[in-house]
Amino acid sequence: MPIKSRIRTVPHYPKQGIMFRDITTLLKDAVGFRVMVNDLVNHYTGMKIDKVAGIEARGFIIGAALAYQLGVGFVPIRKKGKLPAETVGQEYELEYGTDKIEIHVDAIGRGEKILLVDDLIATGGTAEAAVKLIETMGGKIVECAFVIDLPDLGGRKRLEKLRHKVFALSEFE
Ligand code: 5GP
Repeated sequence: MPIKSRIRTVPHYPKQGIMFRDITTLLKDAVGFRVMVNDLVNHYTGMKIDKVAGIEARGFIIGAALAYQLGVGFVPIRKKGKLPAETVGQEYELEYGTDKIEIHVDAIGRGEKILLVDDLIATGGTAEAAVKLIETMGGKIVECAFVIDLPDLGGRKRLEKLRHKVFALSEFE
């Protein structure tokens, strides 16, 4: 598994008991990075996509490379307070408390077909908030793409219940 074997697991990060799946070891590896991007490009080539939207911060790295290869534009979805122009925001639940992501109001046009990208889906809370933002702007979600799915945490099922398609290059327990 060229992708999975290049992802590092960091035990007890960011806190005790969490097994953090670290993609920096995949990204720094020329073959790993290329295979990761190519696998996504191969899956999406031929699909009608107007823009790729990537979630801060690792979704930017993957999403930008993918958008470039697909020949479409890239839209950043950022943590609150980071985007300079007018934004719309969406709150989402964390284990303790809430967080907020934002997108520029002019980032997506009504009816545009959007591919959402992030490095990893766990509970799906972040991706669901991003989906809501894109839909608020009138965008249509083509699919939600991840390098890693943690199926035990239910994010894929959560998005599928909302009738969104999920594509992931690898799974970890
Ligand atoms: P969720 O909202 O699905 O519970 O969490 C997914 C978000 O948290 C993603 O934006 C992802 O980047 C980050 N995340 C949570 N756990 C991990 C992990 O183990 N590894 C990495 N790389 N990101 C994680």
